[in-house]
Amino acid sequence: MRRTETVVIGGGQAGLAMSRCLADAGVDHVVLERGRVAERWRSSSWDSLRLLTPNWQSRLPGFRYDGPDPDGYMAVPEVVDYLGRYARSFHAPVEEGTSVLAVERAGGGYRVTTDRGAWDAASVVVATGHCDTPFVPGMARQLDPDVAQVVPSGYRNPRHLPEGGVLVVGASSTGVQLADEIHASGRPVTLAVGRHTRLPRVYRGRNILWWLDAMGVFDESAAEVFDLAVSRNQPSLQLVGRSDHATLDLPALEERGVRLVGRVVGAEGPRVSLADDLVAHTAASDVRLARLLQRIDVFAARTGLDAEVAPPEDFRPFLWPAPPPTEIDLRAEGIRAVVWATGFRRLYPWLKVPVLDERGEIRHQGGVTALPGLYVIGLYFLRRRKSSFIDGVGQDALDLTTHLAAHLRRAA
Ligand SMILES: Cc1cc2nc3c(=O)[nH]c(=O)nc-3n(C[C@H](O)[C@H](O)[C@H](O)COP(=O)(O)OP(=O)(O)OC[C@H]3O[C@@H](n4cnc5c(N)ncnc54)[C@H](O)[C@@H]3O)c2cc1C
Repeated sequence: MRRTETVVIGGGQAGLAMSRCLADAGVDHVVLERGRVAERWRSSSWDSLRLLTPNWQSRLPGFRYDGPDPDGYMAVPEVVDYLGRYARSFHAPVEEGTSVLAVERAGGGYRVTTDRGAWDAASVVVATGHCDTPFVPGMARQLDPDVAQVVPSGYRNPRHLPEGGVLVVGASSTGVQLADEIHASGRPVTLAVGRHTRLPRVYRGRNILWWLDAMGVFDESAAEVFDLAVSRNQPSLQLVGRSDHATLDLPALEERGVRLVGRVVGAEGPRVSLADDLVAHTAASDVRLARLLQRIDVFAARTGLDAEVAPPEDFRPFLWPAPPPTEIDLRAEGIRAVVWATGFRRLYPWLKVPVLDERGEIRHQGGVTALPGLYVIGLYFLRRRKSSFIDGVGQDALDLTTHLAAHLRRAA
């Protein structure tokens, strides 16, 4: 049995940022990681994946990008290297190859059992990631077994898919990127579109994320938004990180020949039913985009940026050439694979303390649970809109460290 003040579970950016803040606060701790530092990037990414956030936006506590291309987008090996260098920069006490099997109450604190022994600690920080396990709707089980089903964390490149057409379900950042790549490899691609957040890569000559950063949109806190549950459910940004800073939205995909259809609502053998909601979803997304661009224009005028940046650009709403189908017969159309880009869920089978809600999510207020000394970090909109981004997790780590250190003082 080993003892420490705090056990952090997970060696991704959230666990490392937490470790850095704990070290700065003089809190004795260990980071337990079942794989290696940045394991999620190492083992769950497709070959062509690049960050959609620019390099300058990879700010972590005490560490920032200092390479030659601040406006570029890191490929996965560069992200792995970046996080590895971060861990080394402050000698993060990471125990790699250590899977947490159970977290239980013990004495006034917690016992953390791993496959390499147990730890006793006064506090525990769960940093196992928002994008933990791919979410696949239950209807997938009704699909024809001859159709290959793939999730993004298992996808590497189009060569690994069976020959033939592909249905990509979900049009957020992952879905649009995979639809584009698979289509470019010469296969017919159908993209089933649900709620999505359309964004241009560049607006008025600046990266769209530069605008959102400058306007403080990513800093918006849980207390500032009208409905936190709605904000936590927002689809991810329809963006891709490429050296040409290209926009990858639905009009761009349609122009290239990707067929767009509505949400998948049912599956039975080779038949897939689709909602008649494509126009509604794209129209709603276009309205949100128009509002955002207007906000940017007002901000530019108010802050005197108008003279520095390009003039406002025309925003082209998407107009549909033909009503999309409400059913597809995969077999008849030669569609041999379905890619479920339908988001993620989180699993905590090892969390043996009463902290999960009926959906299996950790109950928390800004990362602080009702159990003294138990924290979670890295979840979507944990404390701020940017909480799950590389650039956002540091501020949360700082706040949670303040809370945790006060808890340790009280418990001492
Ligand atoms: C496809 C994709 C693209 C993204 N692109 C960007 C981007 O461009 N910019 C950006 O800022 N964000 C991006 N994100 C969001 C976010 O940065 C990543 O999800 C990131 O991996 C989150 O880091 P994390 O530390 O919270 O969790 P993770 O990276 O998931 O780390 C959790 C760690 O916990 C470990 N673990 C899990 N269970 C256990 C256990 N029982 N015992 C021990 N260890 C365990 C895992 O092995 C893993 O290493 C992207 C996410 C995805 C999915």
